[in-house]
Amino acid sequence: MGKASRDKRDIYYRKAKEEGWRARSAFKLLQIDEEFNIFEGVKRAVDLCAAPGSWSQVLSRNLYLPAKLAPDSKDSDLPLIVAIDLQPMAPIEGVIQVQGDITNARTAEVVIRHFDGGKADLVVCDGAPDVTGLHDMDEFVQSQLILAGLTIVTHILKEGGKFIAKIFRGKDTSLLYCQLKLFFTEVTFAKPKSSRNSSIEAFVVCENYSPPEGFNEKDLHRLLEKIGSPSGADDLDCSSGWLEGPNKVYIPFLACGDLSGYDSDRSYPLPKAADGSTYRSLDPVQPPIAPPYKRALEMKKASMHGVQGLEKLSLDS
Ligand code: SAM
Repeated sequence: MGKASRDKRDIYYRKAKEEGWRARSAFKLLQIDEEFNIFEGVKRAVDLCAAPGSWSQVLSRNLYLPAKLAPDSKDSDLPLIVAIDLQPMAPIEGVIQVQGDITNARTAEVVIRHFDGGKADLVVCDGAPDVTGLHDMDEFVQSQLILAGLTIVTHILKEGGKFIAKIFRGKDTSLLYCQLKLFFTEVTFAKPKSSRNSSIEAFVVCENYSPPEGFNEKDLHRLLEKIGSPSGADDLDCSSGWLEGPNKVYIPFLACGDLSGYDSDRSYPLPKAADGSTYRSLDPVQPPIAPPYKRALEMKKASMHGVQGLEKLSLDS
């Protein structure tokens, strides 16, 4: 699909370029904020799986820049934002970048060091593995990423803090809900308007972090396993212990964002330029600086130059 054609079919892709966001995902976080007011009172935030950086841009524009531009701004009071991804990303004002794996236990330690021992008020995670198209497999890998996010949360989130994470809706959704409800008093599944209806993607908004009394981070996996096994999730009755009554689990699900606003599944006509000339598509705000496909392209090119090209590539890397 060409750029102009995508501009027509994907209004949020076009709007992202017009408003200077690195990815259309920025609108998802903004629309979640419209509904849940997630940035209120936030002084320390962590963006897990942040590249190419549009959620970090949202954090910078909503937390860091207003504080920095305030007339009585003091450096010591500026919000701290730490962004983590496997991939490097171009700098963003007010965002400390860490290149790392969120499934690695040491990642939480790095964040804690940046916060000088303090804890975060907000953790967001838009992590996505490479999608295979095999629904169950994709959902499983995605849920592992959320559990990695939750592990980090138990180390770095302040009591009362919030955790927002991308999920793929599927048969394990009720299990995930039960697991998260153990740590947060409010857990809501949200579908922002900018996330296509045709996509199984949704976001879990967890509010008021309050781990069980006497909780030890080392016990997390034992606790989660106790709640249920993925295969039993469909029939899961979360009434044991913390949900009273005979009711099966009821998952709050909310559409969010201005519902009369742009529909991500619709095509919109392309506007003319201000001088009346025909529409010119904008370039992406920030192309990825080291995308995984770059090496594949290099290898393909090198193989076209035969064995010598491949030898040169392996010497260069
Ligand atoms: N929120 C980002 C934005 O607005 O620009 C988009 C995130 S993108 C959908 C998913 C990211 O998850 C990718 O950049 C990928 O590198 C990252 N990711 C996947 N698995 C990861 C892991 N184990 N640790 C850190 N990052 C990971």
